[in-house]
Amino acid sequence: MILCDDGSYEAMDYVFPPYYLGDAPMWEAAARVKEVVSIPVAACGSLTPEIGERLIAEGSADLVALGRPLIADPDIVVKLEQGRRADIRPCIRCNQLCTGNAFFGLPVACAVNPEAGFELERVIEPGSVTEPKRVVVVGAGPAGLEFARVAGLRGHHVEVYEKGDSIGGVLLPAATPDFKRELFHMIGWWEHQLEQIPTVSIHLGHQITAADEVLAGADVLVLAIGSHPFVPEAVAVDPGARPVDVLEFHRGAPLGKRVVVCGGGLSGADAALEIAKAGHEVVILEMVEEIAGDMLMLNRISLLRELEAHGVEIRTRTLVKEITPAGVRVTGPEGAEELIEADTVITAFGLKPAKGEGDTLATAVPGAEIIRVGDCVKPGKVGDAINDAYVAALAL
Ligand code: SF4
Repeated sequence: MILCDDGSYEAMDYVFPPYYLGDAPMWEAAARVKEVVSIPVAACGSLTPEIGERLIAEGSADLVALGRPLIADPDIVVKLEQGRRADIRPCIRCNQLCTGNAFFGLPVACAVNPEAGFELERVIEPGSVTEPKRVVVVGAGPAGLEFARVAGLRGHHVEVYEKGDSIGGVLLPAATPDFKRELFHMIGWWEHQLEQIPTVSIHLGHQITAADEVLAGADVLVLAIGSHPFVPEAVAVDPGARPVDVLEFHRGAPLGKRVVVCGGGLSGADAALEIAKAGHEVVILEMVEEIAGDMLMLNRISLLRELEAHGVEIRTRTLVKEITPAGVRVTGPEGAEELIEADTVITAFGLKPAKGEGDTLATAVPGAEIIRVGDCVKPGKVGDAINDAYVAALAL
């Protein structure tokens, strides 16, 4: 048989397609080869079961090959056979801990499946705890949801409280670009898993305060309250300016024609791409030499190609001094000051852990064990939040 993909030294990102490349970015490789050979041909690369079925049905491939989806969920084939599609944990195509680890000489792990690579150490034994605890989880983002899943499966009584009207936390706004659709599927996966655990309940639209009666009698308080966007003190904001932080943008804040994004980290760059794809004129301002500097090389190749294809202007070594109603006043690479005009300014300088709120809640439950997970410890990648929460819940 021949397994067809488009990855090469000239297109390294296609070896392990990051989420920027969307679903099935190289199915045509299989279809083209199948036209001219008589032996079996396999398609691969960011395929969902549904796309795989379609490729086979329409004659574009004889079979589909799965790599990362089997790391995210080794039981994908069994679950499909059993008609349990909703139980399949999706690969979010982040490359963070599978390919990413391999680049650093580390064993393969997974952002969404904390058991991958730790099959002997990380084993959930359902209902195994002999003294179930009453666990209150504050926040239904990835860390809170994973903690609830693992603790609940092990037999603890878990109540999850979320101030918003849906689960997902920071993943919800992060998943708005079409190219991050698998993040939405991940939220749906947690929802389906938690529905099946009788000792877990989820309470939406409930903001926990220190005086909240649900805290009384909790054995364990899990703080999964996330983080807040911030503007550095060195950046002046004119009282007449109306900057939009990157989370507000993802939640639907209206944008003008020309958008300047302050901060070229992962969230700023992804927002810039999404905005440019929607037809806006976009400029990214970044203080250091390059944007998304801490991103995995494979993902960065895709990101930079997409930003260029959508006409995003990238200004590096450019320091934001002031946000004004007319735009952003900056100091450029040669030290010259300049006003970069904008109809909308988006701030994506970074996130700060929601520490103060956590401290207040922690003191409200004397005697309870306090566990902090996710961005409220240190804002990071989703895979870190999920893995840390899994390990903490397994130790409870
Ligand atoms: S680390 Fe990310 S890309 Fe790799 S298998 Fe897990 S979810 Fe998929």
